[in-house]
Amino acid sequence: MSELAINGGKPVFDGKPAMDYAPTWPIPFPEIEKDLISIYRSGKWSGTKTYEQKLMVDFAALQGVKYSAWMANGTVTLETALIALGIGPGDEVIVPAVSWLATAEAPIYVGATPVVVDIDRETFCIDPDRIEEAITPRTKAIIPVHLFSAVADMDRINAIAKKHNLFVIEDCAHAHGARQHGVGVGGLGDIGSFSFQLSKLMTAGEGGCCTTNDERLFDRVFRVSHIGNSRISKEAPEMGMICHQYRMTEFQAAIIDGQIAHVKELADWSRRSVARLMSLIKDTPGIVQQKSACPDDERAYYFFAMRLLLDHLKPGVTRAQILKAFQAEGVLLHEGWGHPIVDMAQWNVPEKLYVKRDTPVSNEIMYDAGVYALNNLMLVDEPVIDRIAEAIDKVMRYYAE
Ligand SMILES: *Cc1c(COP(=O)(O)O)cnc(C)c1O
Repeated sequence: MSELAINGGKPVFDGKPAMDYAPTWPIPFPEIEKDLISIYRSGKWSGTKTYEQKLMVDFAALQGVKYSAWMANGTVTLETALIALGIGPGDEVIVPAVSWLATAEAPIYVGATPVVVDIDRETFCIDPDRIEEAITPRTKAIIPVHLFSAVADMDRINAIAKKHNLFVIEDCAHAHGARQHGVGVGGLGDIGSFSFQLSKLMTAGEGGCCTTNDERLFDRVFRVSHIGNSRISKEAPEMGMICHQYRMTEFQAAIIDGQIAHVKELADWSRRSVARLMSLIKDTPGIVQQKSACPDDERAYYFFAMRLLLDHLKPGVTRAQILKAFQAEGVLLHEGWGHPIVDMAQWNVPEKLYVKRDTPVSNEIMYDAGVYALNNLMLVDEPVIDRIAEAIDKVMRYYAE
């Protein structure tokens, strides 16, 4: 076995590291520049003019849903979805312990109580086995997150929701273009929520949208985010459904609409890279890929995520050591967000405003076992993927037994 680079051996990437072969993110597309200039010159910078209306149709078609309504970011979309479903003070909303803060903050914004539930060790998504025991007479909704590169187990989540008469809001911030049983995410529950923040698979720097197949819910979501206005009715908004000004600009709409033409090609490229990488390291000890809930899921790779098999590591070996060794070989893998939501530095919500269930698996994944690559690391040529596989195999053979 060749000496690890961290111990003075020759790195697998001798010269420039793997990430230097990846495109910078986000990828700028020249044809979008023309649209941005024409919007700028027209003065029609906002107000559901040309581009937002086009995007409402085009993105809905991409995900295979009937409606999409556009907003400033993927946090206010979650808040808007909750308001549109009539959820507020006194209600409980079940969320996974591992996600971005927004998933658990959104119920707080509407005065409801987030109930934080553990994730599944294989998928890193909310564990359907832990949902039912968290349901109380106050529970009104579940917000599953399609996390990193998995689609949550929507068959089981929808079955539980149906049995207990709950709404399902899919947080699709990582899952642009993903499908389960051939159905686009954002159309698998009552309302879908997407983010277009800078790191996401489609992005305008900031941006968000809600998707739904239900015309009535679309109207409510649109009104809540567009200060009470409607695209389909002349009636005034329902009394007491407090509406916000969460609109996006035409510049954002044009950037996102232009990316729709590229999203499939980039997703296919990531899927090919991941398939190749995983076949090369299928016998590598101590590490496995994050699974998606159903074998036929068409996954979107926001993070390419893996899990260290802690029982298979040599005594005393930690994730931090392994990540350093990967980096010395020239492969930048990272520990992700580092904490479950309620342990994040930004989470300053008083304990009486949320419920935290036991979350041993979330702690294991976030503190010890999760290993991640940014999406653009998978947008490289096959010889680079082969060397990434070589580096992972070299390091894991040293630290695992
Ligand atoms: C990014 C993200 C959001 C929030 O999106 P913003 O556009 O940053 O407000 C919500 N949920 C998840 C899982 C995210 O990763």
